[in-house]
Amino acid sequence: MHQRARASSGIAWRIVLWSGLLLACATSGIGVLLFRGGRPPLNHVLLISIDTLRADHLSYAGYGRETSPAIDRLAAQSQVFANAFAQASSTLPSHASMFTSQYPSVHGAESKYRIPLADSFVTLAEIFRDSGFRTGAFVEGGQLAALWNLDQGFEVYDVTATTGVMGEIWKADDLAGILAKAAAWMEEHRDEPFFCFVQSYVVHMPYQPRPPHDRMFDEGYDGPLPQEFTYEMRERFDPLAVSPDHPDLRHVVALYDGEIRYMDQLVGMFLERLEDLGLAEDLVVVFTSDHGEEFAEHGRVAQHTETLFDELLHVPLLIRVPTMKPQIIRRQVRLIDLPPTLLALMNVDAGDVSFVGSNLLAGGTEVNEDLPVFSELVYPKRHWASLRVDDHKLLAYSPQQHALYDLRTDPREQVDVFDRQDERVTEWVKLLQHIMSENRVRRSQVAAPVELNAEIEEQLRALGYID
Ligand SMILES: [Zn+2]
Repeated sequence: MHQRARASSGIAWRIVLWSGLLLACATSGIGVLLFRGGRPPLNHVLLISIDTLRADHLSYAGYGRETSPAIDRLAAQSQVFANAFAQASSTLPSHASMFTSQYPSVHGAESKYRIPLADSFVTLAEIFRDSGFRTGAFVEGGQLAALWNLDQGFEVYDVTATTGVMGEIWKADDLAGILAKAAAWMEEHRDEPFFCFVQSYVVHMPYQPRPPHDRMFDEGYDGPLPQEFTYEMRERFDPLAVSPDHPDLRHVVALYDGEIRYMDQLVGMFLERLEDLGLAEDLVVVFTSDHGEEFAEHGRVAQHTETLFDELLHVPLLIRVPTMKPQIIRRQVRLIDLPPTLLALMNVDAGDVSFVGSNLLAGGTEVNEDLPVFSELVYPKRHWASLRVDDHKLLAYSPQQHALYDLRTDPREQVDVFDRQDERVTEWVKLLQHIMSENRVRRSQVAAPVELNAEIEEQLRALGYID
């Protein structure tokens, strides 16, 4: 499959390599440029995915509430991608795209079809593992449960939730426990190169922030809703009856923001612990999410998975690289760009694995260019696609049915201007169709996604997912 960039004794191999380079640099005088004060080369990658976290609800991104002081500190040390977008608005397809650098209709992983990620796809973890990295994942189950096959490449795939695929029971709400396990694993492997993945549903529904986060952002709410928002309450909540300023909606958002602040506190303590352990110096930290959440922008509250609007696709993306000067990068990028970016950072050759995404930290003339953001919703009887290009968002509900939003004047995507006389529209439709036809070719070149076998079906049944 792909080539191994180094032997399994990766770290020893690299010590030899870097010693040689240091020697060469000492004589050529470029050592300072390479090491910026004698820093060691990068050895570790930590990827944190906080499920359902909207980019625009983090304070470093300009949100009106101080939801994320610790993430803000991480942002101040990071390459901050202010305009990063997911390729899907639900958990399984979005993470599958993040891991494979392929679009949803190509990898086909989708829980509504009960289709896991096929073994034929090469994941970021597999490439790291085969290149001599230790690989560990600490996740919260649900659509990250091992049966969805996102565990490919992880030597350790630790799922905190013990039951459930859908509904409330899988929300273990134990980010502290997940982070403790991740830190212990990282410490255990501190002398080896490693790739560690952490995922949590802490800010996902139901919103049940604990004190003091339950009232932290509530601003004197005295309406009928309690200090939590559950699936049952959501059923009774009519998003079409509320305006953005409605006190009940503001209350729901305040609860979500309270969960964010709680998550921020735990992630902040975790990152401090890694510093205390001396792990941070040669560690790349990626902080992101798989999709956002809706708050009545398009008729739903506290939901995702049903549209491709920006409240669901715009995600945080911070990449802390100890050897790089922090900066805010405004060009438009995508989660599918993570595998090529992280592998390049760690000097790992992906061999003949073909990524759709590109290395975001590569220099050159393209560094300020927006990348076209293509995203998909691939459900039974419904294949929608979107293209975010030239400050516009094109949506395709079918080959003949489109909508277009001018994001400069209409960032909330409320007014369809597809019929407006803009000669670029034809160009954008062509580009979207081109990507879709490329996807069909790519899909035909790989094995079809596996159907659930009897064992997995039995697991799903035991979990109450199917009758
Ligand atoms: Zn998710």
